[in-house]
Amino acid sequence: MAAKLGGMQIYRSSLLRFADDGRALYDEDGLLAVAPDDKGQQRVVAAGSWQALQARFADLPGVQVTHLPERILAPGFIDMHIHYPQTDVIGAPAAGLLPWLENYTFPHESAFADRSHADAVAGFFLDELLRNGVTTALTFATSHPASVDALMQASQARGMRMITGKVLQDRHSPDGVRDDTEQSLIDTEALIRRWHGVDRLGYAITPRFAPTSTHAQLRGAGELAARYTDVWIQSHVAENLDEVRWVAELFPEARSYLSVYDDFGLMRERAVYAHCIHLDGEDRALLRERRTAAAVSPTSNLFLGSGFFDFAQADAAQFLYGLASDVGGGMSFSPFKTMQAAYVAGREGQTKQGLSLSPASLWWQHTAGAARALGLAGQVGNLQPGCEADFVVLNPACTPLLARKTRQASSLDELLFAMIILGDDRLIERTLVSQAK
Ligand SMILES: [Zn+2]
Repeated sequence: MAAKLGGMQIYRSSLLRFADDGRALYDEDGLLAVAPDDKGQQRVVAAGSWQALQARFADLPGVQVTHLPERILAPGFIDMHIHYPQTDVIGAPAAGLLPWLENYTFPHESAFADRSHADAVAGFFLDELLRNGVTTALTFATSHPASVDALMQASQARGMRMITGKVLQDRHSPDGVRDDTEQSLIDTEALIRRWHGVDRLGYAITPRFAPTSTHAQLRGAGELAARYTDVWIQSHVAENLDEVRWVAELFPEARSYLSVYDDFGLMRERAVYAHCIHLDGEDRALLRERRTAAAVSPTSNLFLGSGFFDFAQADAAQFLYGLASDVGGGMSFSPFKTMQAAYVAGREGQTKQGLSLSPASLWWQHTAGAARALGLAGQVGNLQPGCEADFVVLNPACTPLLARKTRQASSLDELLFAMIILGDDRLIERTLVSQAK
């Protein structure tokens, strides 16, 4: 954790970060000091007001100050659920989830049997994340083990903290993406050993969703999850009502769709389920009890007409959640588009409470809150001392309207909300990752 003074870099700029309780902290004239630790990883050494920290950090001999006037330094965004192989599926017209999978997603994913195709998409995908200010993501690969190797190698080359896993789907899947029960578990374990914990990379055990895995495959996945306790788990749950009905037919013994995963040992810390729309009170209590997180994917839910995540019920039940793009079901790589849609979803939630999610809370859900939900609090998603130095440089005057609106902002809420509602990739002037090579 302790950073050396050698190689320290100081930034002077406006600075956004978060307190442990999720409150946004903002210094109009801020100082961010970063330095490599003994493994060469850039970490935040100090963050706060320029006035308070200048003498201790900026005035040291040999220290270089990068002054970024009219800019805001903020934590790199975290995308809690995305599919890198669906980069080319974004914007595909379909009537709903199940026809969308059949007509677009599965045919595209089958192309990842070819390693060179996987390499090309992985590189484009990561560059697109960085261009949009996203520095960490929990992403699906495909059922082909080489699709994991492709993404891991490309992430390693960029020094990014990324988590991915081979998709498990041994039934109800077409030729080209369907895997073999026994072999899929052998491959998963081999990939865990090859990649988990290497540099900044993490592995996620990845059943696509309950309908496309046999009981035997889910049981095997649960056994691996018990053996490798710091590996992530990712899947989908309760996105769409047709899907919920299908799961009830396939798993008549389960209390609910979510509890299918619990029955197979797939709910624990570091397990993340996308969507979590059609849940009941017992499901929400179970999420909290297992410290399992929901990945809220509002642009995808709007696109596929699936329904809305219920923020009020989630907060009442106190389970972990954070924001996600869910590209290719999602409509944009931009965290600003996701935060905009989350705001709308909060207004339209199942209980129609007309919630007005605060700008700081939306931003937190895509940074420090998402990190907490992934079990990475204090590592990424924030710019407090000790954090890995993944951050973005925002230009709040990147468009005429944003310049006009942000200039008029008289509070932090007004400033953040103008960027959430009007922002996109143009706001991201630069993205810096901690271990850039
Ligand atoms: Zn998804």
